[in-house]
Amino acid sequence: MSKILIVEDEESIAELEKDYLELSGFEVHIETNGETGLKEALEGDYDLILLDLMLPGVDGFEICKRVRKVKNTPILLVSAKKDDIDKIRGLGLGADDYVTKPFSPSELVARVKAHLARYERLIGSAVQENEIIEIRGIKIDKTARRVYVNGEEKQFTTKEFDLLTFLAQNPNRVFTKEELFREIWDMESVGDIATVTVHIKKIREKIEFDTAKPQYIETIWGVGYRFKV
Ligand code: CA
Repeated sequence: MSKILIVEDEESIAELEKDYLELSGFEVHIETNGETGLKEALEGDYDLILLDLMLPGVDGFEICKRVRKVKNTPILLVSAKKDDIDKIRGLGLGADDYVTKPFSPSELVARVKAHLARYERLIGSAVQENEIIEIRGIKIDKTARRVYVNGEEKQFTTKEFDLLTFLAQNPNRVFTKEELFREIWDMESVGDIATVTVHIKKIREKIEFDTAKPQYIETIWGVGYRFKV
């Protein structure tokens, strides 16, 4: 549920806004003066702020400016005077929209919804997609460190995953066991190049249809291994 902060000193207006927003399914919190409004806007976790311009204490201009320095939360400024709206447009305080009193409650709700939707889209597009390697039936999600073989998830240990990923992102290149051991295991680790052989065997059991005839990780006799594409 989206949370909305209303900063408004006229209680009847604040209650009206609250009623309509709650009817539309929002969770609403009201602050009736500039100081507490600013504090709540900075410290609270809100999805949108409905901000009156003329407030006792700190005014809406100042709150908008201060909040915008640290947060991208959508801010809708509410003012009684059309002149003020013109003025704030010129100030470039970073408010997302302006509403003039008296406003129709349904218009207010529509604007709130539009800004929330726009903000969610912005956040959504900023989320990075997982880095994925797909080779024939194998899908390696590097970000989530998961492996799927023909759509079915297989469990890999850390080193098995690292080894498979290294080979898969360097396809058709032959690596010696020594090279693979240096790449995946650090120098201090206990073990030797036989460890590589053991891990290759375990990986094959998870990804190959027939481990006697590997389709992905090939053994190049006397040299090492390569991931065939
Ligand atoms: Ca006011």
